[in-house]
Amino acid sequence: MRPVGVLALQGDYAEHEAALQRAGLTTIQIRKPDQLWLSADSGCRDPAISALVLPGGESTTMLRLLQLEGLWGPLGELLASGLPVLATCAGLILLASEVTQPEQESYGLLDMTVQRNGYGRQAHSGTFSIEGSELPAGTTGVFIRAPRILRTGPAVEVMARREGEPVLVRSGPILAACFHPELQPSHWLTARFAQLATETNLS
Ligand code: GLN
Repeated sequence: MRPVGVLALQGDYAEHEAALQRAGLTTIQIRKPDQLWLSADSGCRDPAISALVLPGGESTTMLRLLQLEGLWGPLGELLASGLPVLATCAGLILLASEVTQPEQESYGLLDMTVQRNGYGRQAHSGTFSIEGSELPAGTTGVFIRAPRILRTGPAVEVMARREGEPVLVRSGPILAACFHPELQPSHWLTARFAQLATETNLS
């Protein structure tokens, strides 16, 4: 299986790599457009990675760096190709169809409205219970200046909620969380993503 690419322009990509490695996957840091595809020929596009992680961090900075490095377009093409994706926090903001507080450009792959820092700033950050039919009882999520999902469209499945509000969503092969599974020693979502990446690459 090809390595899982972790976007490594900014944010907690090292923690994501460590979490994926603990789950038995190999990883590679993605910083340049030529790392995304095996061939430069757009006629035979074959991804160089088996899955992709968009880490947490600061989404405005990440957006600027993506544009500066010439990654915005090529990464968008890869994200839309059906590759398994795990996006956390700032990564989730980058995928939403609408971003508020303030408004910001995004890929629009997940039909939802996201409010940046919607759960408050640092003082309100912490570990909270999250619930969903697939999640084991007692699962928690680490929220850090987390985005709040204000609306989800019909194509977006809510997999987990915090006090009734969506905090983990799925649309096809894309999983996106407001919290940080990579900051916990072993989290159900990391294992779920590892399973999705492995299954997709076997079929
Ligand atoms: N508040 C950050 C943003 O809006 C996201 C926080 C995070 O990734 N932990 O980009």
